[in-house]
Amino acid sequence: MNPIQTTHRASIHDRDNFWAAEAREIHWESPFSQVLDFSKPPFAKWFVGGHTNLCFNAVDRWLDKRGDEPALVWVSTEVDQEVTYTTRALYQEVNAVAAMLVEQGVKQGDRVLIYMPMVPEAVFAMLACARLGAIHSVVFGGFASVNLAQRIDDASPKVIICADAGSRAGKVTPYKPLLDKAISLSTRPPEHVIVVNRGLFDYEPVSGRDLDYATLRAKHEGASVPVTWLESSAPSYVLYTSGTTGKPKGVQRDTGGYAVALASSMKRIFNGAPGDTYLCTSDIGWVVGHSYIVYGPLIAGQTTILYEGTPVRPDGGILWSLVERFKVNTMFSAPTAIRVLKKQDPALLKKYDLSTLRALYMAGEPLDEPTAQWIAEGLGKPIIDNYWQTETGWPILAAQPGIAPVPTKFGSPSFPVYGFDVRVLDEQTGQDLGPDQKGVVAIVPPLPPGAMTTIWGDDKRFVETYFTSIPGRQVYSTFDWGLVDDEGYWFILGRTDDVINVAGHRLGTREIEESINSHPAVAECAVVGIADQLKGQVAVGFAVLKDPSQLVDAAASMKLEGAIMKVVDEQLGPVARPARVRFVTTLPKTRSGKVLRRAIVAVCEGRDPGDLTTIEDPSALEQIKDSL
Ligand code: AMP
Repeated sequence: MNPIQTTHRASIHDRDNFWAAEAREIHWESPFSQVLDFSKPPFAKWFVGGHTNLCFNAVDRWLDKRGDEPALVWVSTEVDQEVTYTTRALYQEVNAVAAMLVEQGVKQGDRVLIYMPMVPEAVFAMLACARLGAIHSVVFGGFASVNLAQRIDDASPKVIICADAGSRAGKVTPYKPLLDKAISLSTRPPEHVIVVNRGLFDYEPVSGRDLDYATLRAKHEGASVPVTWLESSAPSYVLYTSGTTGKPKGVQRDTGGYAVALASSMKRIFNGAPGDTYLCTSDIGWVVGHSYIVYGPLIAGQTTILYEGTPVRPDGGILWSLVERFKVNTMFSAPTAIRVLKKQDPALLKKYDLSTLRALYMAGEPLDEPTAQWIAEGLGKPIIDNYWQTETGWPILAAQPGIAPVPTKFGSPSFPVYGFDVRVLDEQTGQDLGPDQKGVVAIVPPLPPGAMTTIWGDDKRFVETYFTSIPGRQVYSTFDWGLVDDEGYWFILGRTDDVINVAGHRLGTREIEESINSHPAVAECAVVGIADQLKGQVAVGFAVLKDPSQLVDAAASMKLEGAIMKVVDEQLGPVARPARVRFVTTLPKTRSGKVLRRAIVAVCEGRDPGDLTTIEDPSALEQIKDSL
């Protein structure tokens, strides 16, 4: 056994002592009396009775040692701006936002929805909520009004904080009108909307509802808002993620367990120390952004870089230039970003001094071997593929150089992370599988500190969604296929369900189907994820029309395809827009009416569709093939 495996074993077999030791990484205002309460499985409560606060651990705790050191550096190549906030400046901004929220009546347990681009005010807002014990719910800026309205209805926020607009590749993308539309669709609108006006988009404030961030900030500048000490299991945030139904799931996270997991991971997985600089290129709307742009680095006393921009503007060297300029020690990105860079001049990889960089971490989607090899050779640094989910909040599988340097294998996110009793199980029998056998990746509960504690407002759905799919065992299903080789290295082999992963963005095909079905010409449709060289997967839709005779020629088809894409754009956002929509007269289904998605995917990818004994009409698959 290597030291990573030994640590893992200790974390499972001597769980309470292991986590009691890890819990020393953070500040507890009052100590916990019990490491774990697992009396109502699968619900786990970590560090019972202890009181702490995420904002205090991320900001206040570092005021003495790092008050004048940079805590947050915002770089925007979109609006050509750069601002450095020392820990003290961050403290002041966060307190001003906390005071604004208090003025609007926000208190512990209230929800605050944040719909913002990668601007520092978004980070201040998250930390201000944490300070007050208000539950933030950040919605990714690529989502549009229908997605947003669903989340507003589910979270019922007291206040929403948004910006007038974001900018992507130099193009202004308005946020405020999408929010206004979402609020008009919503049944549980907020009392107030606080708008950060970046001067990118002219908007008309809604009288009595909209408030101006800058005006409120000026009013509350210099405020000092006391930290609300929270019992460890008090919720810190809700982050929505896609599943197999059209209704997104609000992944709820606790406070103490999350703080401990992140602080611990910053040492053991990311091998860092206070004073380091961390660059994570994710977005605050995703879990990676929550954990490793905002909370993780700040809790660990590191400088975090918040980057608004793409990896190729002004050129493909921008990320490496940030590493050089800010002496970045740890970098975290997604395979898609690296695949985009592969198309750029390789000399850009050698142009900058990357000597401070220890490793490049990558997650969010499978890291294919050619990409891993290309970037490993180009950078001459370790590439650390790590596997996790919105639900787990931090990595399930990873090399853990802070425990011990262990060789990695391309295509493998290495070993289980301590705390995760992760297994490969037979989908039919629930039995543990041996080396090289493909099965479902599952986690035997309790889920470790930092993982989701429930689905917001729906304990029953939490249990039914995650803990009932493996026969005979109450274990958490990741809904990913995987296997372990004979040396203990893990491999992730794709989803077991209808969730797809486009450029690291997790999307439910069901949500896209519902959106396409809302077009008046469409009778029914199926959306599947098809392998794509750049984005990993892309969504492709196959639609059956109410009146197929309207497709008189290719031009009519293209026009309708465009109109359907526009509907998806408007409802769900460009992130969910299918790459293609094709028209067929019937979908391949079983006799009981279930769409044969795996067969559709196989045909689209030029593979054998497998067993088709249950198909109702074999010509339907021919149509799929012909339509491509
Ligand atoms: P999300 O919740 O958006 O982070 O998406 C989680 C899903 O992304 C997982 O269930 C996997 O299907 C996929 N995923 C994340 N990281 C990796 C990785 N390192 N290798 C393979 N798949 C990954």
